[in-house]
Amino acid sequence: MDKKIKSQMDKKIKIVIWNEFVHERENNALGDYIRTIYPDGIHRHLAHALAAQDLQITTATLQDEAQGLPPERLDDTDVLLWWGHCAHDQVEDALAERIALRVFRGMGLIVLHSGHLSKPFRRLMGTPCRLRWREVGEKERVWVCATGHPIVQGVPESFVLPHSEMYGEPFDLPGDGQVITMSWYEGGNVFRSGMAFQRGAGRIFYFSPGHETYPIYHDSNVLTILGNAIRWGTPTAIVPERVTPSPVSVEPIHTANPLANLDTSALHQ
Ligand code: ZN
Repeated sequence: MDKKIKSQMDKKIKIVIWNEFVHERENNALGDYIRTIYPDGIHRHLAHALAAQDLQITTATLQDEAQGLPPERLDDTDVLLWWGHCAHDQVEDALAERIALRVFRGMGLIVLHSGHLSKPFRRLMGTPCRLRWREVGEKERVWVCATGHPIVQGVPESFVLPHSEMYGEPFDLPGDGQVITMSWYEGGNVFRSGMAFQRGAGRIFYFSPGHETYPIYHDSNVLTILGNAIRWGTPTAIVPERVTPSPVSVEPIHTANPLANLDTSALHQ
């Protein structure tokens, strides 16, 4: 086989699974319970459960240096998975901005469960992303809406999660998303539980099932959806960083600059 083709085939998709990693470390009865489901944290569980030949998966947490995503690491990431809940406000604005810009250049972003209120997701959606919720352990039935979409390949038309946290409409999202899955809850609510977006060159998938006190990331259909979403979100190429100033015009400018005698450079610092 041609060496170049072989090296491309061997090139693994670089995944970072980011987790705020707070609930799983709590020193109380609830923390003890959560650790029976995710003893090493949701991020390590997902890294293990999603492991595959074509993926190079690493994990990152809020407690790591540079909140787990220093620029050189983010710039080497193809698809970022994001689980956050109670520590959204601790994520630095500058990091959220870097993530958003990386998505615009082509990185895939998979936002999990309560990540709907995370800074990167809200920054990319431009909407408040509020929803209704209830935590009583009710049943959730997930329906595939986008039949044939790569994210739901191998997933049955519907499947049941015996216990789930209810996330319900209205969900403040922009109108350009594609509904991949819709969920129905025992208590009567419905929710757009799987939503796909394009921002710049990057693809975003939001998937709501994944509350920390239920073994939802042990469910085979949920894992199939996340694995499919990773491949779907993988960039074919990363668009080069843009340079925004354009001091040299491509056509001659004949109009006299009325401020030619003033130094306006300070306005652009
Ligand atoms: Zn939750």
